[in-house]
Amino acid sequence: MTDNAKVVAILTAMKEAIDENAQFLTDLDAAIGDNDHGINMARGFKKVEADLPGVAAKDIGAILKKVGMDLVSTVGGSSGPLYGTAFMKAGAKTAGKMEIGMDDFLVMIDEAIGGVQMRGKAVAGEKTMLDAMMPARDAMKAAAAEGKGVREVLDAGVAAAEAGVEYTKTIIATKGRASYLGERSIGHQDPGATSFTVLLKAIASAY
Ligand code: ADP
Ligand code: MG
Repeated sequence: MTDNAKVVAILTAMKEAIDENAQFLTDLDAAIGDNDHGINMARGFKKVEADLPGVAAKDIGAILKKVGMDLVSTVGGSSGPLYGTAFMKAGAKTAGKMEIGMDDFLVMIDEAIGGVQMRGKAVAGEKTMLDAMMPARDAMKAAAAEGKGVREVLDAGVAAAEAGVEYTKTIIATKGRASYLGERSIGHQDPGATSFTVLLKAIASAY
């Protein structure tokens, strides 16, 4: 089980991972977007970290709701509302909970994906963050259904997200700024799929 203190520790690890990868994420966005994805995400998680002490004693739903609101208000771009909605949706499913287990986490990731799709209207294969999120979710559900432990479930999710990022190199962007490039977006990995993988790795390593 994961309690609210552990959730705060995981969110702090996510912030650090985004900082470490900020330049890389921005460079990826320079190739097929507008050169700001890492800057956007780092700004958002800086605000998240600053606000964590104020919500750390609250239930997991309240913590994640605050994270979502911070990301919506500070990240900007397309990814701010998308990641913000993802965290708010995950928080809505954990309202009042001081502890969560793997089943809760799998519901949260489903909700997060639903939130991204509600906001961004993208489906699989459009070269977005969903191309890492959806395979990660599927792999984690499959591993959990096989009775695997948390560590193995998260590792399976990270491996599938990484494969999803590789897949984004092979497809044309049809959503977001990268879609303006059409076929020229082929060969480049999606920044948002990459940032999701960075975040999931941080969850797995801090768990
Ligand atoms: P912007 O494109 O507005 O500058 P960012 O650079 O912060 O925003 O984020 C770009 C990322 O957002 C893309 O790499 C992609 O993964 C994601 N993205 C853009 N549009 C969508 C969408 N409609 N659905 C899902 N993800 C999207
Ligand atoms: Mg951008």
